[in-house]
Amino acid sequence: MTTTHTAPTGPNAEGVHWDLSSLVADADTARTELADGLERARAFQERYRGTLESIAPADLATALAELASIDNLLSRVGSYAHLRESVDVTSEENRDLSTAMDQGMVEASNALRFFDLEWMALPDERAGELAAAPEVAADRHHLETLRVFAPYTLSEPEERMLAEREPAAGSAWQTLFSRITSTLEVPFDAGEGTQAHTIDRLLAHVRNTDRAVRKGAMLALYGGLEPQADTLAHCYDTLVGDRLAIDRLRGHGDPMDRTHLRNELDGAVVNRMMDAVEAHYGLAQRWFRAKAGILGLERLELWDQYAPIGSGRKVDFDEARNLIDVSFGRFSSRISDIAGGFFAEHRVDAEPRSGKRGGAFCASVAQDASPFVLMNFTDKMDDVMTLAHELGHGMHFVLSASRQTALTFHTGLALAEVPSTFAELLAFDHLMEQETDPATRRALTCERVEGSFATVFRQTVLARYEQRAYAMRAEGQTLTSQRLGDIWWDRNAAYYGDSIDLPEGYRLGWSYIPHFISTRFYTYAYVFAHLVTLALYARYRERGAEFADGYLEFLSAGGSAAPADLLRPLGVDLDDPEVWSLGFAEMERMVEIAEAG
Ligand SMILES: [Zn+2]
Repeated sequence: MTTTHTAPTGPNAEGVHWDLSSLVADADTARTELADGLERARAFQERYRGTLESIAPADLATALAELASIDNLLSRVGSYAHLRESVDVTSEENRDLSTAMDQGMVEASNALRFFDLEWMALPDERAGELAAAPEVAADRHHLETLRVFAPYTLSEPEERMLAEREPAAGSAWQTLFSRITSTLEVPFDAGEGTQAHTIDRLLAHVRNTDRAVRKGAMLALYGGLEPQADTLAHCYDTLVGDRLAIDRLRGHGDPMDRTHLRNELDGAVVNRMMDAVEAHYGLAQRWFRAKAGILGLERLELWDQYAPIGSGRKVDFDEARNLIDVSFGRFSSRISDIAGGFFAEHRVDAEPRSGKRGGAFCASVAQDASPFVLMNFTDKMDDVMTLAHELGHGMHFVLSASRQTALTFHTGLALAEVPSTFAELLAFDHLMEQETDPATRRALTCERVEGSFATVFRQTVLARYEQRAYAMRAEGQTLTSQRLGDIWWDRNAAYYGDSIDLPEGYRLGWSYIPHFISTRFYTYAYVFAHLVTLALYARYRERGAEFADGYLEFLSAGGSAAPADLLRPLGVDLDDPEVWSLGFAEMERMVEIAEAG
């Protein structure tokens, strides 16, 4: 297609729709391709099941290449269906296609599951020999990471029993939790008459400009949670007890072990990081005192924490594109070219419209295809940062795809948000250099500072809360609502100090947080990614252009090595106890800019 955009884009990115035809021609073709993928998955199972014990390295390489190729095919058609649905969730054809894809994906993973299981079951020595063979070098890291849980895996009948009991033993408590928290409704009047408010709707008012609304929403939330607190505590207590019991059976010494293994991070590194974060709580308190002054208050109350300061000016889509092009281009023409490709090839869907899902994401699609970005652009300064964020993911996917196989293309949770956050910093610095409107500057800096705090400090508070809860449960204490409230209060009081007044109802702040229930210690990965990004940015500001080449190498490496090995060449050594101070210095720089206004 040779359309050129000479005419300016209308308000709210009018007409900026993606073109999915490069992925799959239409829904019928997608169904045919899915059937083909399933056929290949079944053939793969037929061919390789029971062979891993004696497979030759060259045959293993052939098998991995076929797995990667099936993965690419299924990821591409699956993404196509998912992307189609995300811009028109009401279309029956789209929903039917998604359902067919979901079913197909389950079938394909059932057919292919044997491969990972057989690989995990190989004796260490045999697996080590195979993984070291030059024929499989491109997938070595993938093969090695598949085996990290092998030493903690029980016998097959034991594992089967655990798996069969999981729906009633673990998942049932998670379901009860999400039922309570997703259906809870509290009457509240935000100025438009009393209406039923869900938890999410109440929480959205923390950014309301009216102080009375912010306060009322928080108090209504605590009032609504109170009658459920004992049940929510019981869900958590049971899950923690269950996880500790299974940890014991598997031979894990620390309740964080499995999370560290999944994130490929050393527990000592994570603990040093959290100690460093706690040692810098004073930086947050300093900002909260400054913010009280800006708002003309003696001291902040909890509901003033995210009160907006300043307001950003309007930015249309063409200006946003241009801002991103310039800010990325100053770093490296390669990344501005990649971002430009998204627009030129119609791989961005930015216009908000009826039937389109909310929020934003960058879909990686497949290693042998190109990524797509969805967002809802409303001409706000915030939207520029969102676009930069998603294009940051996009550059990671494009560069990683150029060098990695389908099996090593994705990085783990610990580093996945680094390129997106880094891209936001590039855009932020450029915006701050050329923005003259004082209210916009103030809004931009406050969002940056408070966004960093919400990630680095608050997520550490959550992880520390969990650590304490697991320790108490391991000592035989039931996690009652009262005890959880005490731990929560204690960890939060350490963070806020005397810079923010906490209301009594905040003792229930732990009760609705889904991470505690679904994935323990999930939140520290956010802290890690954010601090690593700030450290990388500090290195970039030290080294300039010379840093950019190494950074592009890092992006191209995708998930082909552990985080520590990927970061070391960039001057971020996770074993260096001082490594985190780079990130805090960057945060302090942001606070200074925000204080200056
Ligand atoms: Zn992201």
